[in-house]
Amino acid sequence: MNAPRTTAELQAADSAHFLHPFTDFQGLARKGARIIERAENIYLWDTEGHKILDAMSGLWCVNVGYGQKALVDAATKQMQQLPFYNAFFQTATVPAIELAERLAQVTPPQFQHVFFSSSGSESNDTIVRMVRRYWDVLGQPQRSIIISRHNAYHGSTMAGASLGGMIGMHAQGGLPIPGIVHIEQPYWWDHGREQGLTREAFGLQAAHWLEEKILSSGPENVAAFIGEPIQGAGGVIIPPSTYWPEVQRICRKYGVLLVSDEVICGFGRTGQWFGCETMGFEPDLMTFAKGVTSGYVPLGGVMVGERVARVLIEQGGEFNHGYTYSGHPVACAVALANIGLIQELKLVEHVREDVGPYLAQAYAQLAEHPLVGEAQTCGLMGALLLVKDKARGTAFPEALAMGMVCRGHCFREGVIMRAVGDRMIIAPPLVITRAQIDEMVALIRRCLDLTLADAVKHGWLH
Ligand SMILES: *Cc1c(COP(=O)(O)O)cnc(C)c1O
Repeated sequence: MNAPRTTAELQAADSAHFLHPFTDFQGLARKGARIIERAENIYLWDTEGHKILDAMSGLWCVNVGYGQKALVDAATKQMQQLPFYNAFFQTATVPAIELAERLAQVTPPQFQHVFFSSSGSESNDTIVRMVRRYWDVLGQPQRSIIISRHNAYHGSTMAGASLGGMIGMHAQGGLPIPGIVHIEQPYWWDHGREQGLTREAFGLQAAHWLEEKILSSGPENVAAFIGEPIQGAGGVIIPPSTYWPEVQRICRKYGVLLVSDEVICGFGRTGQWFGCETMGFEPDLMTFAKGVTSGYVPLGGVMVGERVARVLIEQGGEFNHGYTYSGHPVACAVALANIGLIQELKLVEHVREDVGPYLAQAYAQLAEHPLVGEAQTCGLMGALLLVKDKARGTAFPEALAMGMVCRGHCFREGVIMRAVGDRMIIAPPLVITRAQIDEMVALIRRCLDLTLADAVKHGWLH
């Protein structure tokens, strides 16, 4: 057998051939990628043998943690028995049927049907096709506008990136595609604090931006509104409690379909099965991916509420849309095992009653740190905003990229936290224990202290 390749050799091959997503290729080639070799529970190990606490669950997805044998066994068994068959030609596979049935049980009662894909992005492409088809079938084809929000993340395909509100993504490739418009996000710190609004009053204001957009677009032209219950990639932005119920009221008033992108919030992350349950609204459609398989294999889909499903089924005829891997049997088998494990380990209750509140307490203490302007959590999502002047809440100049300074310390200290601007965010695996939260928070505090020391040393605070 060949000797294992060194990290340097792997890095050279990586930069010679592998174009990474959302990456400055040349910048990465200069540094060399960190290569992750194995994982267990909430920890990763790289090829240099460093142990790293994964406070991001991979990419918001490894909800049951790494190394869960039940998922591995489900995949192995299904691969041996039937690695693939499609669902196009009036056929189905057992895992796809059983997963559809199981999803109808764990999602809110308005959901009895699912359309499968392999990712969050594809699912949101399905959303665009499906909501427009719905209005077509109802004889209102002009109802095609979809309203989304600035700084939303809905994936990276043409439709996903267009629904999303990321300026950097829109700047490349001629996006957004026509018929998708954006309103401001419900981010109190940026848009409500200086006007002196309470969070609750701001939540209502932010919802009314939706009503204004519906009215200016003409309600007869608006198909749907889409949002993440809590924006993830945008920086774990937790809207005020008043926001979503008011958004729902407005959507109902104008007949606009309400779509919840549950790719991050779904499957227990917020302490309920789905983020809409935590935020108190009842969407007509839900996008899911990531946590449905805990990322062990790719799977996504759209939960289709009865309002839409009845029209498509009873009046729609053929829906000219689908993916080769819609209902992939191996992915569905893994999802079934994953959902089984979430239920068996009572992970949703664990987040809601135990580790979620425990993390909230720890973050309330981190809020006292001199660099932290606000600290927020919901279930097992958390954000720390780094500020230059705590008393006034002044931001650091963007050019300092303080979030990246802090992230550099996290990298060296062995904890994975993500920087979105100056918001440091986490979303650890749901299996995390109290003792592991203590360990994680101690690492985070240490990284904040090191970042503060940098800021003092370089005179960035004044
Ligand atoms: C990650 C994400 C997506 C995209 O999912 P992919 O599987 O990367 O295509 C869509 N919506 C939200 C809210 C996400 O966090």
